[in-house]
Amino acid sequence: MAAEAETSFDLFIGGKEAPGTRGERRSVLDPATNEPFARAAVGVREDAHAALEVAERAFRESNWAADDGARRAKVLIRLAALVESHQDALARLETLNMGKPLRESRGDIGYVVRTLEYFAGLADKVEGETIPVPGARFDYTISEPLGVTVHIAPWNYPLLLAVRSVAPALAAGNSVVLKPASLTPLTAVAFARFAKEAGVPDGIFNVILGSGAEVGEALVDDDRCRSVTFTGSGEVGSRIAELAARRRVPVTLELGGKGPVVVFPDADLERAAKGIGYGIFQNAGQMCWAASRLIVHESIRTELLDRVRSIAESLKLGPGTMEGVEMGPLVSPDQAARVLDYVQDAVASGGRILTGGTRASEPPLASGNFVRPTVLVDVPSSSRAVREEIFGPVLTTATFSELEEALRLANDTTYGLLGTVWTRDLSTAHSFARRLECGMVVVNEAPITYPQAPFAGTKGSGVGFEQGRRAVEAYTRRKNVLVNLGTGKRRA
Ligand code: NAP
Ligand code: MG
Repeated sequence: MAAEAETSFDLFIGGKEAPGTRGERRSVLDPATNEPFARAAVGVREDAHAALEVAERAFRESNWAADDGARRAKVLIRLAALVESHQDALARLETLNMGKPLRESRGDIGYVVRTLEYFAGLADKVEGETIPVPGARFDYTISEPLGVTVHIAPWNYPLLLAVRSVAPALAAGNSVVLKPASLTPLTAVAFARFAKEAGVPDGIFNVILGSGAEVGEALVDDDRCRSVTFTGSGEVGSRIAELAARRRVPVTLELGGKGPVVVFPDADLERAAKGIGYGIFQNAGQMCWAASRLIVHESIRTELLDRVRSIAESLKLGPGTMEGVEMGPLVSPDQAARVLDYVQDAVASGGRILTGGTRASEPPLASGNFVRPTVLVDVPSSSRAVREEIFGPVLTTATFSELEEALRLANDTTYGLLGTVWTRDLSTAHSFARRLECGMVVVNEAPITYPQAPFAGTKGSGVGFEQGRRAVEAYTRRKNVLVNLGTGKRRA
C-alpha cells in the first residue's frame, strides 16, 4: 500500500496532467477500510473553462474531426488494446477506489474494451443519405460532429459508464470533456493517459476533476459545450437538463431505476433465484438497473424466498481486492448510512427483515462500508423503500395472484429502466415485455447488456439512450444540402 499512498491523479487537459488552478489535492479513500490510498486533484470553475477552451481549439485545429473515420477507428482500437493489456491494473484501481470485487472490476474493464472496439467499428460508418426531391435537384445529408461534448459520470461503474458515452462521441469526431464522480476519479485519469498513448490528439480527450456543483455546472452552463451526457441521480439530471435547455443543447440522461422482477409459477426457480441474487447483490446493489422489487406469484413465494435468502446469506463479504469475495463494501460511509436508513424506514412502516438489514461489523469489515445483503418482506407499497431508488443490496418483495396484478405492481413506479420476467410461457413473456413500462426488458436472465444493444430508460429513468449503432447519432448533427443541377433554363 505504501506506493499507492503516494499516487496522485491530476486533471488531464490538452494532453497534460496538472493539479489545476488552485493546486488543491484531496485524499481518496478505500471503501473497504476508509483509509486513504491515493490523492486526487480538485478542479475549480476556471479549470472547467480551460478544459472547454482547449477542447474547442483541438476540435477546430486538430485533424480528429476532419480525418477519415477509419483513422479514428484505428486509434480507438489501439486504445482498446492498451486498456486490455492493463486490465488487471485498471481493475485493481477501480476496486480500491469503488469497492466492488476484483472479478466485477475485471468484467467492467473488459466491457470498456468491447465498447471501444464496437464504436471503433462505427467510426467510418457515420453516413449521410441522398434524398429524392422534385426536378433537377440533388439533396443529401451530412452527419457532422457536434464539437465539444461533455460527459458527467457516476461512481458505480466509474470507467465503464464514462466510456459508454465517450466512445461514440470520439468515434463521431467530437472532442470530449469528461467529469468523473468525486468519489471515483482515478480510472478516468488512467484512461486519459492511455488515450494519449493510443494517438488521441491532445485536447480531444480531457478529464476534469472537482465537484459536480462547481465544475459540473460550469461545464454544462457554457456556450462551448455542445451536448451533455449525464448518468446519475434524477435530481441532478433535472438540474443539468435545465441548464442545457437555456443554451438549447441536447442532453442524454441515464437516471436511476426501481426494477421489477416478476416471477411466474412456471419459472425455473433455481435459475430465477440466482438471477434475482445477482440482480440485486452484484456491485452491492449500486446499480441503476438493479432488479430491486421482487414480484412473485403467491404459490411459489415461500420456496423462492427461501432460495433467495440462502443466496443472500451465503455471499462472501470482504474487501474487493481479496480473491473469492463476492460482495464488497458500499462506495462511501454516506451511501451505507443512506441504505440503512431505507431499511429502518421500511421496518418502521410495517415491513420485516427476512435477512440482512445491518452493517457487517465483524473484523476486518468493521471499518469499511459493509452492509449485509438484505431481503425485506411485507413492506407497504407506499413506503420509501419500495418507491425510491435505494442503490444498495436491498430487495423488497410483493406477491400477486394474477397476471394483471403483477403488471400493475411492476408498473407502479415513477422509474422505467429495466424489468425482468421469469416464465417458461412464451406468450406471458412477450406480452409482459410489451406492457412493462421500461426501456429494457430481460426474460429469464439477470440484468445483462452489450455495447451493441440499446441501453434505455423511460419515465423517470432517463432521456435518450446509449449503446447500439444509433447511439452515435446523439453525437452528430444532420446537415441537409440541396443542389440545383439545372443550367438555369426551364425544362420544356
Ligand atoms: P449525483 O449527485 O447525481 O452524481 C452523479 C454525477 O453528477 C457526479 O459526477 C457528480 O459529481 C455530478 N454532479 C453532482 N451535482 C451536479 C451538478 N449540480 N451539476 C453537474 N454535475 C453534478 O449522484 P450521487 O450524489 O453520487 O448519488 C446519489 C444517488 O443517485 C445514489 O444514491 C443513487 O440513488 C443515484 N445514482 C444513480 C446512478 C445511476 O447509475 N443511475 C449513479 C450514481 C448515483 P460529484 O461526484 O462531484 O458530486
Ligand atoms: Mg450528489
